[in-house]
Amino acid sequence: MSQNPVFLSVSAIRLPCIVICILLVIVNFRAYPFGFHAHRVLNRKAVFALPATMLVFYKNHLDFITERSIDPDRRAHVIEGEAARHFLDADHFGSYPFTEIPRKREKAIVRYSLDTLEKYGMLPWAIYDHYQLLVKAFETMDAKRILLYSAYLGHYVADACTPLHTSLYYNGRTYMSQGIHALWETRLPELYASTYSYITGKPEPIDCALEKAWELILESHLKVDTIYMVFYNLVDSLTADRIYSHEMRGQALQRVFSADFSGVFHANLEGMVERQMRRAVNAISGYWYAAWHEAGEPDLKPLVSGSLHRRLQRFMRSEERAMKQNGSQSGFQRYR
Ligand SMILES: [Zn+2]
Repeated sequence: MSQNPVFLSVSAIRLPCIVICILLVIVNFRAYPFGFHAHRVLNRKAVFALPATMLVFYKNHLDFITERSIDPDRRAHVIEGEAARHFLDADHFGSYPFTEIPRKREKAIVRYSLDTLEKYGMLPWAIYDHYQLLVKAFETMDAKRILLYSAYLGHYVADACTPLHTSLYYNGRTYMSQGIHALWETRLPELYASTYSYITGKPEPIDCALEKAWELILESHLKVDTIYMVFYNLVDSLTADRIYSHEMRGQALQRVFSADFSGVFHANLEGMVERQMRRAVNAISGYWYAAWHEAGEPDLKPLVSGSLHRRLQRFMRSEERAMKQNGSQSGFQRYR
Protein backbone atom coordinates (compact mmCIF):
# COMPACT_ATOMS: atom_id res chain seq x y z
CA MET A 1 0.00 0.00 0.00
CA SER A 2 1.32 3.42 -0.74
CA GLN A 3 0.23 6.62 0.99
CA ASN A 4 -2.77 6.43 3.28
CA PRO A 5 -4.76 9.69 3.35
CA VAL A 6 -7.25 8.27 5.90
CA PHE A 7 -4.45 7.56 8.31
CA LEU A 8 -3.19 11.12 7.93
CA SER A 9 -6.52 12.84 8.43
CA VAL A 10 -7.54 10.74 11.44
CA SER A 11 -4.19 11.31 13.08
CA ALA A 12 -4.34 15.04 12.42
CA ILE A 13 -7.84 15.38 13.90
CA ARG A 14 -6.64 13.86 17.14
CA LEU A 15 -3.85 16.33 17.50
CA PRO A 16 -4.33 19.57 19.38
CA CYS A 17 -4.14 22.69 17.25
CA ILE A 18 -0.78 23.67 18.62
CA VAL A 19 0.76 20.40 17.52
CA ILE A 20 -0.77 20.74 14.08
CA CYS A 21 0.88 24.14 13.84
CA ILE A 22 4.18 22.57 14.81
CA LEU A 23 3.75 19.92 12.12
CA LEU A 24 3.64 22.69 9.56
CA VAL A 25 7.16 23.73 10.51
CA ILE A 26 8.99 21.60 8.04
CA VAL A 27 12.46 22.83 7.30
CA ASN A 28 13.62 22.80 3.74
CA PHE A 29 16.90 20.93 3.74
CA ARG A 30 17.36 21.10 0.00
CA ALA A 31 20.74 22.73 0.22
CA TYR A 32 21.97 20.33 2.87
CA PRO A 33 22.38 16.96 1.23
CA PHE A 34 24.38 14.64 3.43
CA GLY A 35 24.21 16.68 6.61
CA PHE A 36 27.22 18.52 7.94
CA HIS A 37 28.33 15.50 9.91
CA ALA A 38 28.30 13.21 6.88
CA HIS A 39 30.16 15.72 4.69
CA ARG A 40 32.89 15.96 7.28
CA VAL A 41 33.15 12.19 7.54
CA LEU A 42 33.27 11.72 3.77
CA ASN A 43 36.04 14.23 3.07
CA ARG A 44 38.04 12.87 5.99
CA LYS A 45 37.71 9.25 4.90
CA ALA A 46 38.54 10.14 1.29
CA VAL A 47 41.94 11.47 2.39
CA PHE A 48 42.88 8.02 3.64
CA ALA A 49 41.96 6.43 0.32
CA LEU A 50 44.65 8.48 -1.47
CA PRO A 51 47.99 7.00 -2.58
CA ALA A 52 51.02 7.78 -0.41
CA THR A 53 52.25 10.40 -2.89
CA MET A 54 49.17 12.55 -2.14
CA LEU A 55 48.39 11.36 1.36
CA VAL A 56 51.48 12.98 2.84
CA PHE A 57 50.16 16.45 1.94
CA TYR A 58 46.43 15.92 2.48
CA LYS A 59 46.83 14.20 5.83
CA ASN A 60 48.83 17.14 7.10
CA HIS A 61 45.70 19.28 6.58
CA LEU A 62 43.06 16.78 7.52
CA ASP A 63 41.17 19.19 9.76
CA PHE A 64 41.01 21.85 7.06
CA ILE A 65 39.70 19.39 4.44
CA THR A 66 37.19 18.11 6.98
CA GLU A 67 35.88 21.46 8.20
CA ARG A 68 35.77 23.19 4.83
CA SER A 69 33.63 20.36 3.45
CA ILE A 70 30.53 22.18 4.70
CA ASP A 71 31.33 25.65 3.31
CA PRO A 72 29.25 25.14 0.15
CA ASP A 73 26.15 24.50 2.27
CA ARG A 74 26.87 27.36 4.64
CA ARG A 75 26.99 29.81 1.76
CA ALA A 76 24.04 28.29 -0.12
CA HIS A 77 21.73 31.13 0.83
CA VAL A 78 24.39 33.84 0.83
CA ILE A 79 25.94 33.51 -2.60
CA GLU A 80 23.65 34.00 -5.55
CA GLY A 81 23.39 30.85 -7.66
CA GLU A 82 25.03 28.66 -5.03
CA ALA A 83 21.93 26.72 -3.95
CA ALA A 84 21.44 25.30 -7.46
CA ARG A 85 24.90 23.74 -7.42
CA HIS A 86 23.80 21.14 -4.87
CA PHE A 87 21.15 19.23 -6.83
CA LEU A 88 19.72 18.26 -10.17
CA ASP A 89 16.00 17.56 -10.43
CA ALA A 90 16.56 15.20 -13.31
CA ASP A 91 12.95 14.00 -13.38
CA HIS A 92 11.78 17.51 -14.21
CA PHE A 93 13.29 17.06 -17.66
CA GLY A 94 12.17 13.53 -18.49
CA SER A 95 12.73 10.01 -17.30
CA TYR A 96 15.75 7.82 -16.62
CA PRO A 97 18.37 7.82 -18.16
CA PHE A 98 17.49 11.40 -19.08
CA THR A 99 19.13 11.33 -22.49
CA GLU A 100 17.18 14.45 -23.38
CA ILE A 101 19.37 16.53 -21.05
CA PRO A 102 22.53 17.61 -22.85
CA ARG A 103 25.47 16.60 -20.68
CA LYS A 104 27.40 19.75 -21.51
CA ARG A 105 26.23 22.90 -19.76
CA GLU A 106 26.39 25.13 -22.84
CA LYS A 107 24.06 22.83 -24.78
CA ALA A 108 21.76 22.37 -21.79
CA ILE A 109 21.47 26.15 -21.47
CA VAL A 110 20.57 26.45 -25.14
CA ARG A 111 17.88 23.79 -24.76
CA TYR A 112 16.36 24.83 -21.43
CA SER A 113 17.72 28.35 -20.59
CA LEU A 114 19.96 29.28 -17.69
CA ASP A 115 17.00 30.32 -15.56
CA THR A 116 15.48 26.86 -15.87
CA LEU A 117 18.73 25.14 -14.96
CA GLU A 118 19.19 27.41 -11.97
CA LYS A 119 15.74 26.39 -10.84
CA TYR A 120 16.15 22.65 -11.36
CA GLY A 121 19.82 22.27 -10.57
CA MET A 122 23.39 22.67 -11.73
CA LEU A 123 25.10 19.88 -9.79
CA PRO A 124 26.99 18.11 -12.62
CA TRP A 125 28.55 21.39 -13.69
CA ALA A 126 29.43 22.40 -10.14
CA ILE A 127 31.47 19.19 -9.93
CA TYR A 128 33.07 19.88 -13.29
CA ASP A 129 33.92 23.50 -12.41
CA HIS A 130 35.55 22.57 -9.12
CA TYR A 131 37.45 19.75 -10.75
CA GLN A 132 38.90 22.24 -13.23
CA LEU A 133 39.78 24.65 -10.43
CA LEU A 134 41.57 21.85 -8.60
CA VAL A 135 43.56 20.86 -11.68
CA LYS A 136 44.68 24.48 -12.01
CA ALA A 137 45.63 24.64 -8.36
CA PHE A 138 47.80 21.54 -8.78
CA GLU A 139 49.40 22.95 -11.93
CA THR A 140 50.36 26.13 -10.13
CA MET A 141 51.22 24.27 -6.91
CA ASP A 142 48.98 26.62 -4.97
CA ALA A 143 48.75 24.73 -1.68
CA LYS A 144 45.91 26.81 -0.24
CA ARG A 145 43.69 26.37 -3.25
CA ILE A 146 44.53 22.67 -3.64
CA LEU A 147 43.12 22.16 -0.17
CA LEU A 148 40.19 24.52 -0.57
CA TYR A 149 39.00 23.16 -3.90
CA SER A 150 39.58 19.58 -2.76
CA ALA A 151 37.26 20.27 0.17
CA TYR A 152 34.63 21.91 -2.04
CA LEU A 153 34.85 19.32 -4.82
CA GLY A 154 34.41 16.62 -2.18
CA HIS A 155 31.21 18.32 -1.06
CA TYR A 156 29.59 18.41 -4.51
CA VAL A 157 30.66 14.85 -5.33
CA ALA A 158 29.06 13.71 -2.08
CA ASP A 159 25.90 15.57 -3.05
CA ALA A 160 25.77 13.59 -6.29
CA CYS A 161 25.77 10.40 -4.23
CA THR A 162 22.62 11.42 -2.35
CA PRO A 163 19.61 10.05 -4.26
CA LEU A 164 17.08 12.63 -3.08
CA HIS A 165 19.15 15.40 -4.62
CA THR A 166 18.48 14.09 -8.08
CA SER A 167 14.71 14.35 -7.93
CA LEU A 168 11.88 16.86 -7.88
CA TYR A 169 10.58 14.85 -4.91
CA TYR A 170 13.62 15.70 -2.85
CA ASN A 171 11.72 16.16 0.36
CA GLY A 172 8.62 14.04 0.10
CA ARG A 173 5.96 12.96 -2.34
CA THR A 174 3.12 13.64 0.10
CA TYR A 175 2.70 15.46 3.39
CA MET A 176 3.42 12.20 5.19
CA SER A 177 6.92 11.95 3.72
CA GLN A 178 7.86 15.60 4.25
CA GLY A 179 11.21 15.58 6.00
CA ILE A 180 12.41 12.37 4.34
CA HIS A 181 15.33 14.32 2.96
CA ALA A 182 16.79 15.17 6.33
CA LEU A 183 15.94 11.69 7.57
CA TRP A 184 17.91 9.89 4.86
CA GLU A 185 20.95 12.06 4.61
CA THR A 186 21.27 13.84 7.93
CA ARG A 187 19.58 11.89 10.69
CA LEU A 188 20.57 8.39 9.56
CA PRO A 189 24.23 9.29 9.02
CA GLU A 190 24.27 11.06 12.39
CA LEU A 191 22.94 7.92 14.04
CA TYR A 192 24.84 5.26 12.11
CA ALA A 193 27.81 6.69 10.15
CA SER A 194 30.23 5.75 12.93
CA THR A 195 29.31 2.08 12.46
CA TYR A 196 29.96 2.01 8.71
CA SER A 197 32.94 0.59 6.87
CA TYR A 198 34.70 3.07 4.59
CA ILE A 199 37.26 0.74 3.11
CA THR A 200 37.14 1.47 -0.60
CA GLY A 201 40.52 0.43 -1.97
CA LYS A 202 42.12 2.66 -4.59
CA PRO A 203 40.48 5.92 -5.71
CA GLU A 204 37.91 5.40 -8.42
CA PRO A 205 39.41 5.80 -11.92
CA ILE A 206 37.97 8.90 -13.58
CA ASP A 207 38.66 9.61 -17.25
CA CYS A 208 36.19 12.43 -17.72
CA ALA A 209 35.11 14.60 -14.78
CA LEU A 210 31.81 15.61 -16.36
CA GLU A 211 30.83 12.11 -17.49
CA LYS A 212 31.56 10.75 -14.04
CA ALA A 213 29.38 13.43 -12.46
CA TRP A 214 26.47 12.34 -14.63
CA GLU A 215 27.18 8.69 -13.88
CA LEU A 216 27.00 9.35 -10.13
CA ILE A 217 23.77 11.32 -10.48
CA LEU A 218 22.10 8.63 -12.61
CA GLU A 219 23.16 5.91 -10.19
CA SER A 220 21.75 7.90 -7.31
CA HIS A 221 18.49 8.61 -9.08
CA LEU A 222 17.78 4.90 -9.48
CA LYS A 223 17.54 4.65 -5.69
CA VAL A 224 14.83 7.27 -5.24
CA ASP A 225 11.91 4.88 -5.83
CA THR A 226 13.37 2.35 -3.40
CA ILE A 227 13.66 4.99 -0.68
CA TYR A 228 9.99 5.93 -1.07
CA MET A 229 8.82 2.33 -1.31
CA VAL A 230 10.61 1.40 1.91
CA PHE A 231 9.34 4.55 3.59
CA TYR A 232 5.66 4.09 2.73
CA ASN A 233 5.69 0.39 3.50
CA LEU A 234 6.93 1.23 6.96
CA VAL A 235 4.63 4.21 7.49
CA ASP A 236 1.61 2.13 6.59
CA SER A 237 2.43 -0.35 9.31
CA LEU A 238 2.79 2.17 12.16
CA THR A 239 0.71 4.74 14.03
CA ALA A 240 1.71 8.41 13.97
CA ASP A 241 2.98 8.41 17.54
CA ARG A 242 5.57 5.80 16.57
CA ILE A 243 6.63 7.63 13.43
CA TYR A 244 7.23 11.14 14.75
CA SER A 245 8.68 12.88 17.75
CA HIS A 246 9.46 16.54 18.38
CA GLU A 247 12.79 18.14 19.09
CA MET A 248 14.03 21.63 19.77
CA ARG A 249 16.30 22.70 16.93
CA GLY A 250 17.62 26.16 17.63
CA GLN A 251 14.62 28.20 18.76
CA ALA A 252 11.98 26.04 17.09
CA LEU A 253 10.23 22.87 18.07
CA GLN A 254 10.27 20.66 15.01
CA ARG A 255 8.68 17.46 13.93
CA VAL A 256 11.30 14.79 13.33
CA PHE A 257 11.11 11.10 12.67
CA SER A 258 11.43 9.18 15.90
CA ALA A 259 14.57 7.25 16.75
CA ASP A 260 12.50 4.08 16.66
CA PHE A 261 11.18 4.80 13.16
CA SER A 262 14.62 5.94 11.95
CA GLY A 263 16.19 2.68 13.14
CA VAL A 264 13.68 0.45 11.36
CA PHE A 265 13.79 2.60 8.22
CA HIS A 266 17.58 2.36 8.22
CA ALA A 267 17.44 -1.41 8.61
CA ASN A 268 14.84 -1.77 5.86
CA LEU A 269 17.03 0.19 3.46
CA GLU A 270 19.43 -2.76 3.80
CA GLY A 271 22.69 -0.84 3.82
CA MET A 272 21.84 1.77 1.20
CA VAL A 273 23.10 4.75 3.20
CA GLU A 274 26.35 3.00 4.03
CA ARG A 275 26.86 1.96 0.40
CA GLN A 276 26.21 5.50 -0.83
CA MET A 277 28.61 6.97 1.71
CA ARG A 278 31.27 4.49 0.68
CA ARG A 279 30.48 5.29 -2.95
CA ALA A 280 31.06 8.95 -2.16
CA VAL A 281 34.41 8.30 -0.48
CA ASN A 282 35.59 6.34 -3.50
CA ALA A 283 34.43 9.01 -5.93
CA ILE A 284 35.83 11.94 -3.92
CA SER A 285 39.29 10.36 -3.71
CA GLY A 286 38.93 9.48 -7.39
CA TYR A 287 38.30 13.10 -8.36
CA TRP A 288 41.20 14.37 -6.25
CA TYR A 289 43.50 11.77 -7.74
CA ALA A 290 42.34 12.45 -11.30
CA ALA A 291 42.94 16.21 -10.89
CA TRP A 292 46.44 15.59 -9.56
CA HIS A 293 47.11 13.16 -12.43
CA GLU A 294 45.80 15.59 -15.06
CA ALA A 295 48.07 18.29 -13.66
CA GLY A 296 51.08 16.06 -14.32
CA GLU A 297 51.33 14.40 -10.89
CA PRO A 298 53.37 17.19 -9.26
CA ASP A 299 55.48 16.34 -6.24
CA LEU A 300 53.49 17.54 -3.24
CA LYS A 301 56.23 17.05 -0.66
CA PRO A 302 57.56 20.64 -1.03
CA LEU A 303 54.10 21.88 -0.05
CA VAL A 304 54.18 20.14 3.31
CA SER A 305 55.02 22.95 5.68
CA GLY A 306 54.11 23.87 9.22
CA SER A 307 53.61 27.52 8.28
CA LEU A 308 50.90 26.57 5.80
CA HIS A 309 48.47 26.07 8.68
CA ARG A 310 48.87 29.72 9.67
CA ARG A 311 48.72 30.93 6.08
CA LEU A 312 45.56 28.92 5.56
CA GLN A 313 43.91 30.62 8.51
CA ARG A 314 44.78 34.06 7.14
CA PHE A 315 43.67 33.01 3.65
CA MET A 316 40.28 31.83 4.87
CA ARG A 317 39.75 34.94 7.00
CA SER A 318 40.31 37.14 3.97
CA GLU A 319 38.05 34.89 1.86
CA GLU A 320 35.23 35.12 4.35
CA ARG A 321 35.64 38.89 4.71
CA ALA A 322 35.47 39.31 0.95
CA MET A 323 32.43 37.07 0.78
CA LYS A 324 30.57 39.07 3.42
CA GLN A 325 31.51 42.41 1.90
CA ASN A 326 30.84 41.62 -1.71
CA GLY A 327 28.18 38.93 -1.62
CA SER A 328 27.83 37.04 -4.87
CA GLN A 329 30.76 38.79 -6.52
CA SER A 330 33.31 37.47 -4.07
CA GLY A 331 34.74 34.26 -2.76
CA PHE A 332 34.25 31.25 -4.97
CA GLN A 333 33.01 33.22 -7.94
CA ARG A 334 36.20 35.23 -8.24
CA TYR A 335 38.07 32.07 -9.15
CA ARG A 336 35.82 30.92 -11.94
ZN1 LIG B 1 25.49 20.56 -0.77
